[in-house]
Amino acid sequence: MLTGRMMSFPLTITELVERAGRFHGSSAIVSVQSDRSRHRGTYGDLAARSAQLASALTKLGVGPGDRVATLSWNHRQHLECYVAVPAMGAVVHTLNLRLHPSELGYIASHAEDTVVVVDHSLWPLFDRFRHAIGSLRHVVVVPDKGEPVPEGTLDYEKMLAAEASTFAWPLLDENAAAMLCYTSGTTGNPKGVLYSHRSIVLHAMAAAMPNAMGLGVEDVVLPVVPMFHASAWGMPYAALLAGAKLVFPGPHLDPASLVTLMAEERVTVAGGVPTIWLGILALLDAAPEAHDLSSVRTMIIGGSAAPASLIDGFAKRHGLQVTHAWGMTETNPLGTVARVKPELRGEPARELAVRATQGFAVPFVQTRHVDDQGKLLPWDGKAVGELEVRGPWVAASYFGDEGLDRFSPDGWFKTGDVVTIDAAGYVTITDRAKDVIKSGGEWISSVALENVLMAHPAVAEAAVFAARHPKWDERPVAAIVWRPGKSATDEELTAHLAGSFAKMSLPDAFVVMDQIPRTSTGKFLKTKLREQYGDILEKAVSTGL
Ligand code: AMP
Repeated sequence: MLTGRMMSFPLTITELVERAGRFHGSSAIVSVQSDRSRHRGTYGDLAARSAQLASALTKLGVGPGDRVATLSWNHRQHLECYVAVPAMGAVVHTLNLRLHPSELGYIASHAEDTVVVVDHSLWPLFDRFRHAIGSLRHVVVVPDKGEPVPEGTLDYEKMLAAEASTFAWPLLDENAAAMLCYTSGTTGNPKGVLYSHRSIVLHAMAAAMPNAMGLGVEDVVLPVVPMFHASAWGMPYAALLAGAKLVFPGPHLDPASLVTLMAEERVTVAGGVPTIWLGILALLDAAPEAHDLSSVRTMIIGGSAAPASLIDGFAKRHGLQVTHAWGMTETNPLGTVARVKPELRGEPARELAVRATQGFAVPFVQTRHVDDQGKLLPWDGKAVGELEVRGPWVAASYFGDEGLDRFSPDGWFKTGDVVTIDAAGYVTITDRAKDVIKSGGEWISSVALENVLMAHPAVAEAAVFAARHPKWDERPVAAIVWRPGKSATDEELTAHLAGSFAKMSLPDAFVVMDQIPRTSTGKFLKTKLREQYGDILEKAVSTGL
């Protein structure tokens, strides 16, 4: 082979932050605080404060590969952790604050977190699982409204103030681990996905491209999608790369707060799950003239399917464009984007149908779909099979080598999404093979609910499945078979579950039956349950029950 004579320059987050500070030092970072006031800083501040954070963490003994966890809303200090921790050679591990303390305890222990950076407002949650983290050495609290931080913890702001604003960033291997994200979108325990510097940088470049989010210096980017979920779709890193203004909503995610923020900060690109946008659409519909969203170029919607009515409603009634995208924690997360190719433009109904697909793969992500036997299926828009992907920002294995069955012998990742692919490469999700429920963008494990339900003395069998919901997309419903001569009320079953699950995970309804349908191999036949009862919550809403 004649080797190319080009430099092998490492693709690292260090370069991202140094570049952001040097070339875009005055680009703004606006961060909504818990009292709703907006902190205004710059990329220059980010570069200086990241250096301070790295110095402070080094003094705390954080070394290469150590996991530094965050339990935080979307804000500037979270961004500093996104940058400083990987750039110093450690790994930032984002903890999902929507999970139950027992799940968080499991995840933080599994990750062997040594330091946790936690928002003061989230201290009560952290307090419920911190004792479960055997590896924990230090807790750093991001202070709120100047209140003193809990005893035995370090004050984030005071810690930074004591440090110099330069740091000798180490030279890193681009394949070194940078960020750890756990996903509950899998059967069994949550699994860790360990992003590398290289995967994050390449992903940010792809995400910033015109065919994806299309980011430049003139953009104002609002990640509504949480930074504790798949790196907020890489939006913060892509914005840094582009030099775009960043706007963080903090804990205020209600439609009115978001719309006000978008209007006042002149947001051009915002990203979030359908539940967020359904709320915003309803608000705009109620008072179309009240909000000036003329700055908005596009709203990226993903995490769950964006309904065609939502895409159409924004376009027709408010002149706002939605970009529908698909991805997974395991894919850093961007995989496909529903850009309408020129040859598909012109006829409104067809164009809308294309926008409502999950889209076609971004460069370097490859897609294919296979049948139950692993046979490749044709791209005819009809053949239905499991989507598999591969590419430079697709996981090659899980942290701790769990879930090996998700990786095909010939190097593809099995997504668990059931799809068709058409001749132009557009992927349409038709079902889900994995036994999980996604509600408002967050996963609920049906298996975990079933296990606890079946421990109730009146329950012989329980199968939890996803029912459609107009606001949350999906909600859990439990099919129950009683033990002979026994029964319980819905309230009793809910109370039984409440000790082990976050409120959002509790089933919305219980359906009692004599027998749960099963597959030939004896597993619960969830497709049948979804077919028969998938609409019971929609019916309940429409009849006002
Ligand atoms: P997560 O790892 O939490 O980001 O979840 C990834 C999963 O969310 C995918 O495997 C899909 O099941 C689902 N998902 C993500 N984006 C979409 C979308 N645009 N349409 C339908 N489902 C989606």
